[in-house]
Amino acid sequence: MSISVGIDLGTTFSAVAYIDPKTKLPQIIPNGEGNKLTPSVIQFLDGDVIFGSEAEDAYNSGEENCVATFKREMGVDKPYCYIDGKPYTSEDLSAMLLKHLREDAEAATGETIKDAVITVPAYFYSKEREATIRAAKAAGLKVKKIIDEPNAAAMAYGLNHWRENANILVYDLGGGTFDVTLVHMGKNGVLSTITTRGNHKLGGRDWDARIEDILVTRFESETELDIRGDRELLSIVSGMSESVKKQLSAQNMQATKVSASFPGYGKVTVTITKAEFEENTADLLDRTGALCLAVLEEAGLTHKDVTDVLLVGGSTRMPQVPAYLQRLFNKRPLSHVNPDEAVALGAAIQSSKENESYAALSVQVVDGKKTTDRTKSGLSSHVSVRAERKLNSLSMLTLRETTAHAMGVVAINDEGNHYYNEIIIPANHPRPVRAAKKFRFYTSPRANNELAIYVLQGDSENPLDCQIPYKYVVNGIKHVNRGEKIGTVIRIQYSYDVNGVIHIQARQEDSTVDLPIRRESVPADISQFGRPVTSENTDQGFKVGLQIGTRSSQSLVHKYKAITFSNVEWVKYDNIPTHPSGAEFNEPTVHVIANEENIEFHGYNISEMNEGVRYTIDPSDDFEIECDINTSTISPHPGGYLEISLGLISAHLTENGGDILLDGACVATVAPRFHLKMSLTNGGQYEVEIDGKAVGSKFKASNSDVDVRFGFVHESHYCHLLSHAYVSDISMMQAVGQEGDDNPDTDTWDD
Ligand code: AMP
Repeated sequence: MSISVGIDLGTTFSAVAYIDPKTKLPQIIPNGEGNKLTPSVIQFLDGDVIFGSEAEDAYNSGEENCVATFKREMGVDKPYCYIDGKPYTSEDLSAMLLKHLREDAEAATGETIKDAVITVPAYFYSKEREATIRAAKAAGLKVKKIIDEPNAAAMAYGLNHWRENANILVYDLGGGTFDVTLVHMGKNGVLSTITTRGNHKLGGRDWDARIEDILVTRFESETELDIRGDRELLSIVSGMSESVKKQLSAQNMQATKVSASFPGYGKVTVTITKAEFEENTADLLDRTGALCLAVLEEAGLTHKDVTDVLLVGGSTRMPQVPAYLQRLFNKRPLSHVNPDEAVALGAAIQSSKENESYAALSVQVVDGKKTTDRTKSGLSSHVSVRAERKLNSLSMLTLRETTAHAMGVVAINDEGNHYYNEIIIPANHPRPVRAAKKFRFYTSPRANNELAIYVLQGDSENPLDCQIPYKYVVNGIKHVNRGEKIGTVIRIQYSYDVNGVIHIQARQEDSTVDLPIRRESVPADISQFGRPVTSENTDQGFKVGLQIGTRSSQSLVHKYKAITFSNVEWVKYDNIPTHPSGAEFNEPTVHVIANEENIEFHGYNISEMNEGVRYTIDPSDDFEIECDINTSTISPHPGGYLEISLGLISAHLTENGGDILLDGACVATVAPRFHLKMSLTNGGQYEVEIDGKAVGSKFKASNSDVDVRFGFVHESHYCHLLSHAYVSDISMMQAVGQEGDDNPDTDTWDD
């Protein structure tokens, strides 16, 4: 036979549970040592890998090659540690631990494990959830579902203590993470998460660190040793801080004596009091309290609406935790569940269930911000809570989880001057959920058009205040000429799956076929999303802000886009490897205006950019460049010149200025400072305007591409000379919708 299990993959301890075939109730499966909990610690010893209490003892006594608390770095690509020179990520270590847990559970039950529900902190982002799934797969487990730890604990509690209409605040303080979740016990045994918040870098370890701090100070003043500056001495103190914390957490314990033996000094004993401990950690509790209040505020409730507070996680055993919560909520928190086991037991309950189907997006806009519409959730302060009862069977209990983080994408605002987080799925929305949304962006008729989607997790309007877990690139996009309406429209479908993992699909406006999409690593420097939309250098090549305008009968509508010039070949001259000083160039401001199908550079910054751009346009395109030019600042780089050309129009300008040519003939001689306007219209009409005066006009039809060049050229200095650039990648997009229209996200697809 094979069984399904629930696994609590904890920061400090892990546990495995299943549904006992006889009692039909969740039960912990003991590990190979006969214990219900397995410390999440690994020791690498002489080619062997050791788990459990032996590894924990080795870790606590400061032995080498021991790793613990690696869950805190889940989803981080960098190695968590190096053992004998070999790198291990948190995901690798979690895979090893999960494999050990699987093998122990299979040995204890005599069954093979068919699939598993694994728990994660509610506040885990998509990448951390994905890393957990990959770790489980690497451990030979089939993941049935990832559920949130507080929800699992609430299930274990709800099975025996169901009270319809109750709002339970699950306060989950573990070894490395903190989650607070408000759950609602609805009709028919439906347990719904309402709101959740957390900090996955806050947990028992932080309390240990404060104890360590107090002890080190005390030992140093007794011994005059430099403990902080000596790794070996410090590890003696850090190894004992958790057990000191537990001693101080025991009932009626007001103070404890702590002895340590330091090499070269001998034994020394100091005292630490409970009052000191509490005083030195009060700020940590306040941080958890602030998140509890935030969760209630988001749900539109007050502390009076909380029916009960449920304690979960080993750190809630510190007596100051329930005392603090009692002060905050004016009621004694419940400790009905074993805080160490409840999460695994709840996961086991979920392992007996089928996964839910996708919910429709249900949003409302409050004060301009998209939030979850909870009007149908059954949540109300005015409904009385029914009497407690035991649910007779597991099938009477259903879990409905929510998204901890809003999901959005980086888009450019309607005015085209800044990037913002366009929220697609708000925080605290029931999951799984999917929503499709239309975006428009500029494409080129001849290029391989690509659209970059930067996914955001977080509520903030500023993309830089959110997590950017993924960058996707959609390709194979057909150029659509839409006349008055600018740009090509793409529908993008965003989903949070049952596990809280994000997925992206894209389709051409009316197509039923998904466009090819690939995931790329998020560039290390994404600071441009915090700046106005202007010329930028990016990781992908050269990027300039584009202004795409269309003239309607009433007004000139301008849309700004950012575009990436890829396939760029730079010729680099290395005599002077770095730019001597950006200030030496007075940065001629280039403002290029283009018509509907046309492109242009604006905010062009000659000292910052790698000195130029070349672009080809279709001869039938209308194109217009307008800019203020100042070439006097070229002089620190003798021999350098500004090269300008648009088809028939060309110029080669030095610090003294130069000639503007039209089809090879000079139409104007300019000083270093002037205002230039060049245009190409009607399939071949070239016009040049200098300082507001027309100086030349010539018609020449052409079937071949028209060359557009704009750049600083220098042959012996640091500068880069652009040799080719083609527009092939439009990297940003705008939501389709008029002002005041929230672009309702309707037409989802699910195949
Ligand atoms: P969890 O991640 O839920 O397994 O919780 C582990 C955390 O609970 C660790 O930081 C432990 O030090 C802490 N913990 C466990 N038992 C106690 C206790 N009796 N008193 C204080 N903290 C405890």
